[in-house]
Amino acid sequence: MSEEKYCKVAKKCSGCQLSNMDYPRQLKFKQNEIRLRFSRLCKSEKIIGCESPVHYRNKAQFMFKRLKGRIVCGIYQSADRTVVPTSACALHTEAQNKAGKVLCELFESFKLEPYDFHKGKGLIKSAIIRESMHTKELMIVLVCDSRRPFPCAAPFAQALSKKLPKLSSLIVTKHKGNTLTPGESPRVIFGKDRITDRLCGMEFIISYNSFFQINSLQTEKLYNTAVEFAELSSEDTVLDAYSGTGTIGMICAPHCKKVYSVELNKNAVKDAIKNAEHNGIGNIESVCADSEEYIKELAEAHIPLTCAVLDPPRAGCSRSFLSSLSALAPKRIVYISCNIDTQIRDVRYLLKQGYCLEKVQGVDMFPYTKHIECVVRLSLPLHSSM
Ligand code: SAH
Repeated sequence: MSEEKYCKVAKKCSGCQLSNMDYPRQLKFKQNEIRLRFSRLCKSEKIIGCESPVHYRNKAQFMFKRLKGRIVCGIYQSADRTVVPTSACALHTEAQNKAGKVLCELFESFKLEPYDFHKGKGLIKSAIIRESMHTKELMIVLVCDSRRPFPCAAPFAQALSKKLPKLSSLIVTKHKGNTLTPGESPRVIFGKDRITDRLCGMEFIISYNSFFQINSLQTEKLYNTAVEFAELSSEDTVLDAYSGTGTIGMICAPHCKKVYSVELNKNAVKDAIKNAEHNGIGNIESVCADSEEYIKELAEAHIPLTCAVLDPPRAGCSRSFLSSLSALAPKRIVYISCNIDTQIRDVRYLLKQGYCLEKVQGVDMFPYTKHIECVVRLSLPLHSSM
């Protein structure tokens, strides 16, 4: 597919860094990168590609501006803080792109001005559109400047739901500053305060600011790979560190004795607890803490960890965390990462602590972008007792 055909604004928009390659070439490129980076440590498995590499995002974020007098939506460019107009992003779904267009029309008719970040004027800073890939329900969050009230909430909500029959949740938030965050003080002006999606046979609640992997189809493959690498049995006690809304721990829970799940963000932990209850899972303990501190508590309480699944942010794990983890000596460590640099740094440290690197598996979570996601498995040799 030519770049132009793939997306009309591909050259101007920084969202898809690999839009000049067709998908098979992108996979080769990512596979090579993984192979090269891990070459001295372990052979890597064939990367798991995406069956439909376009329109895969379950979340879109549009910014708005006036162009030749009309309100248009588009993609924010962090490098120069501009908006590239498009309502046909190839990574968004059709429903998300349609929602962007409909919002432009309604902002126009309800006289709701896009916020101008340079002048500090206007109301609408962005719209976050989340879509359940299972139920196709839509949640729209209108991120508004905190200094101005949102007028005409009821008629706006009514008009929007008429044009978007799948709308299940419309939320207005108050936002300060120039970041891309979803804002504070959520006010539901239509429907519910959440939508739900299904992954690996379980149902997850998604709130307006929950972390949820953005490619649902590939997330199932990623989680299944992680659970397969963990080789769980009913004897296992598992740590799910950097757990977000508890997804990985919940998928492990039916296959093991007990899961300890730790996450720093308190809203994510609230969601994790609700999610476990919602799915009737009783053998998971979700704690809001820094994983570095929490692992020390597990050690002090002599919790016999047999397996750990780590999914840290781009910065990777701290030395102190890895050192406490290796002292607890779980037999298997499954490490998921979207940053090969920090993943390799942490793997090297664990190798020094006596672990062996057994498997390296790329899963393409973000087609058309440069981002590479990798799952690895480390294990303690059988004779080792640390
Ligand atoms: N495993 C989850 C989320 C991974 S994102 C999923 O697949 O959905 C990484 C998570 O690590 C984020 O939710 C972030 O809030 C959390 N985090 C970052 N630093 C942390 C720390 N020091 N201790 C615990 N959690 C942390």
